[in-house]
Amino acid sequence: MSLLVRGGLVATFAPERVERADLRIRDGLVRERAATLAAEPGETVLDASGCLITPGLVCAHTHLYSALARGMPPPAAAPANFVEILERVWWRLDRALDPGSIRVSARVGGLDALACGVTTVVDHHASPSAIPGSLALVGDELGALGLRSVLAYEITDRNGPDGARAGLEEHRAALAGTSATRAVLVGAHASFTLSDGTLFDAAALAAEHGTGLHIHVAEDRADVDDAVRRGFRDPVDRLARAGALGPRTVLAHGVHLGPAAFAEIRDAGSWVVVNPRSNANNAVGTAPFALHPGVNAALGTDGIGADMLEELRALYLAAQATRAGMGPREALGYLAAGHRMAGALLGVDLGGLGPGSAGDLVVFDYDPPTPLTAENLAAHVVFGLRTAQLRDVVAGGRILVRGGAATGVDAAEVQAKGREQAARLWRRMAEL
Ligand SMILES: [Zn+2]
Repeated sequence: MSLLVRGGLVATFAPERVERADLRIRDGLVRERAATLAAEPGETVLDASGCLITPGLVCAHTHLYSALARGMPPPAAAPANFVEILERVWWRLDRALDPGSIRVSARVGGLDALACGVTTVVDHHASPSAIPGSLALVGDELGALGLRSVLAYEITDRNGPDGARAGLEEHRAALAGTSATRAVLVGAHASFTLSDGTLFDAAALAAEHGTGLHIHVAEDRADVDDAVRRGFRDPVDRLARAGALGPRTVLAHGVHLGPAAFAEIRDAGSWVVVNPRSNANNAVGTAPFALHPGVNAALGTDGIGADMLEELRALYLAAQATRAGMGPREALGYLAAGHRMAGALLGVDLGGLGPGSAGDLVVFDYDPPTPLTAENLAAHVVFGLRTAQLRDVVAGGRILVRGGAATGVDAAEVQAKGREQAARLWRRMAEL
């Protein structure tokens, strides 16, 4: 199957580049890139004239299991802090998940990702009452939509030793099925819900399979306080001493980390994924963006949908509000880092849009009102580009969204299934 994307202005983020180019995608990869390419017999042609093409976006940290949480009844007693938000909202929701609701939440969340131009989802899954096979459910739903995934299960000791063991075991099966469309990290909830034994087992499992951890780190002060009580500088220190840092380890948030932790993360080549909208929503503080230069820092949504352009603006504004010295180019660097991170985990170039790169791209109906060049691309993305302008999405050379509509799935049916499963899920939550 061959696809010719013709007539568009192709923008890439690292380094910033803007160029009129045609792209030929075959067998999932870009094979040719030139100013003009002639259509070959039998080739599908996607006319992107007058449009801006970017690489498919990466959401570097999310929780698809929360896709059915929108509008659910609030807990009887309002949470007063971050740990209470977990206990009264998210840990009740994840305990109520069953295979049916896991599937449908992945489908609803995956469809939302597609609608936002996200072609790779880095998911952090939890369903303590239905652990075995849950990663395959999520991965299969995303795969059926044409999305790439990086999966992980949130191992934790908060549901007892059997729950921790089941979480570890869930990765063994999933790790066997990795490819350029599906990678697996060993997930862990957060340092403050992990015993030493479970953390060591998770790190050992990751090492055994040549992969890394995906874990929340210092999202709230409580995680740091817990690590200090255990005799560590902070959770990064604890992870480092457990052998859990490395170039394939993903640390979500890092809101309450200092220069020593970031130096350690930088030296280990690990990834930090910031989620500014979630941090604001949970009132946990603002990430120390000024400590990120030199660190691999990417962007996620932490379950608040998949709109990476909205998240990027939130990142930029949060950084401005804290005088972190971030310009549009540094902000765009977080999206580019997502391509590098997921690309390294999946073993494919996700951000290059050149020969050999993944055939993952987004066509935006973006007609710039001011000159658009490589030098000011970042400002156009941060201040101008909107998800509402998204026209087409291609992943692995397949057109998944055309003219704003998903091609391979009945979106109305998915949403109807979502409403049905959400109502059941909320009833089960009320009974817990
Ligand atoms: Zn998270």
